[in-house]
Amino acid sequence: MFIIAKQKHHDLHHSAYAWLPLWVWNYSTEVERYKSDTVCIELDRSNNEPRGGAVMSDIERLKREFTDDERRRLVDYFSLLIEIDQQEKARYAKLKDSPKGFAMNGEGRQCGLCLKSVHSDSSGWFDKWGFKCFNCQDAVNKRKIPGSLCGDYRHEKSLPDTTLAIKLGVKVQVIRGFIREGKIIGRRIPNGPYMILRKDNPKLSHILTHV
Ligand SMILES: [Zn+2]
Repeated sequence: MFIIAKQKHHDLHHSAYAWLPLWVWNYSTEVERYKSDTVCIELDRSNNEPRGGAVMSDIERLKREFTDDERRRLVDYFSLLIEIDQQEKARYAKLKDSPKGFAMNGEGRQCGLCLKSVHSDSSGWFDKWGFKCFNCQDAVNKRKIPGSLCGDYRHEKSLPDTTLAIKLGVKVQVIRGFIREGKIIGRRIPNGPYMILRKDNPKLSHILTHV
């Protein structure tokens, strides 16, 4: 009834959700399959009712099928992801009229650079690089920090020293000590953390083994 093993006939829907860890398969005319790293659900396209769903193992084998309650919760979850996706697209569309970006309430969002939460009482800014706190936006405007580092939540290019300290379980002063000594290259966001760029610090992991 419900097979998780790779379908031969699906083709990867060129995904409107590519920025999410979510893939959409359109493997029959009736059903859309939504898949993230660990879950998979099939929705009836006519009414968005779940047809099936399963918890996936790392190697895409079926662990077990979802219960009805889990299916309902998953539909809610995917609906939310899609809604978030649509809102994000609307923001990028708005940039056509406001190429430099626009003020946006934080509502608890993380700044894409310093990663602090920006709450609704203070606003942030959205531009082509994504959402940032005002302080980081100022640093980008003044070219202290490349805007392209924004939204690097997987830290493929950079991370703030504050985040590195949390990951290592040390005080941020320890990292700043290394920066002062020149062992780690950090780029300061004025009134914010240092950004540690991978390209500035090719030997970072070696240095950190001595922390
Ligand atoms: Zn920030």
